[in-house]
Amino acid sequence: MSRFLTDSKSLLVKYVPGEQPKRGEFIKLNTNESPFPLPKKAILGVADIAAEVNIYNDTGCTALTEAFAKYYDVGQENVIFSNGSDEVLAFCYLAFCNSKRDEFCGDKTIIYPEITYGFYRVFSQLFEVGAKEIPLKEDFSININDYIGANCTVLLANPNAPTGIALSCEEIEQIIIGNPNNIVIIDEAYAAFGATSVMQLTKKYKNLIVVGTFSKSRSMAGARLGYAVADAELIDDLNRIKFSFNPYNVNSMTQFLGRISIEDVDYYNDCITKIITEREKFTEKLNSLGFKTLPSKANFVFTKHPTISGEELYNRLREDKILVRRFDGTHIKDYLRISIGTASEMQLVVTSLEKIING
Ligand SMILES: *Cc1c(COP(=O)(O)O)cnc(C)c1O
Repeated sequence: MSRFLTDSKSLLVKYVPGEQPKRGEFIKLNTNESPFPLPKKAILGVADIAAEVNIYNDTGCTALTEAFAKYYDVGQENVIFSNGSDEVLAFCYLAFCNSKRDEFCGDKTIIYPEITYGFYRVFSQLFEVGAKEIPLKEDFSININDYIGANCTVLLANPNAPTGIALSCEEIEQIIIGNPNNIVIIDEAYAAFGATSVMQLTKKYKNLIVVGTFSKSRSMAGARLGYAVADAELIDDLNRIKFSFNPYNVNSMTQFLGRISIEDVDYYNDCITKIITEREKFTEKLNSLGFKTLPSKANFVFTKHPTISGEELYNRLREDKILVRRFDGTHIKDYLRISIGTASEMQLVVTSLEKIING
């Protein structure tokens, strides 16, 4: 750390991304990527786009926006794209937190669960936004009453991470109605895997922002594409931030890949179906081996063995070249978060776990 770094930044605790080992070294089930590549048409077509990168990219993401608006049945003025969804979440912090509207919340101006996506805490620190972190219930679910009448910005991942547990559309609607003077942000990074998206509610509620990503369900983690859907005025606010920070945030290759991903509906649906099928099969297998697995609507499961510690399981799987994720923290230290890969990958995980458990 240099002596020039500002005092507040010197206290930042950085986000720790999951390990990205050399390709092929591990069965990689630690960062919830899709095991399936993009459709061939996307991969082959990107060279033509790369041939034109001497010219700046389209700041309005026009073709991508058209395809997205049509597929998801929202207005083109209701969408903004970003360099991964982490970026649009940052725009939300900059645009909507610490506003006058948050005055009833004292110095706490955003609320989210204590156990959730780790980046929320990092952003709260970076943008110096006071955060209320609310414990989950005993069963790791969210108590919606904690978020009704919050009087500050509400931020929830649905399904939540790393639990995989989803709220219903009706429960989220109660939270939106319960916070008429504040923004409610629903992060739907994993919604495609079985939760109900509340995207259509953005037409009804002017305080709702639905954030999503192409990283998990659309096989584009390395291309970086995220989005927010909301009332046009809110999108305008977010564009004010985007154009004050990095107007060219989504590069032309990524815009192209995103558009092809949306247009190839059959391929996308096929990938999602495979993941959901594998998740259900794998969950059943884990539970038959004695694991306690939370009910997941995501492309990962959060699971714990009654006697073998999370650390030991993690290390033993790693010896078998299987990489999963675990977290420190009193309530979750013995859980593993295992991304759902292909059928053959999950079979190898099962074989390895059987070996570990049966000594
Ligand atoms: C992975 C993830 C994101 C961010 O994904 P990007 O790759 O930045 O688009 C956002 N929210 C949650 C809950 C996630 O798990």
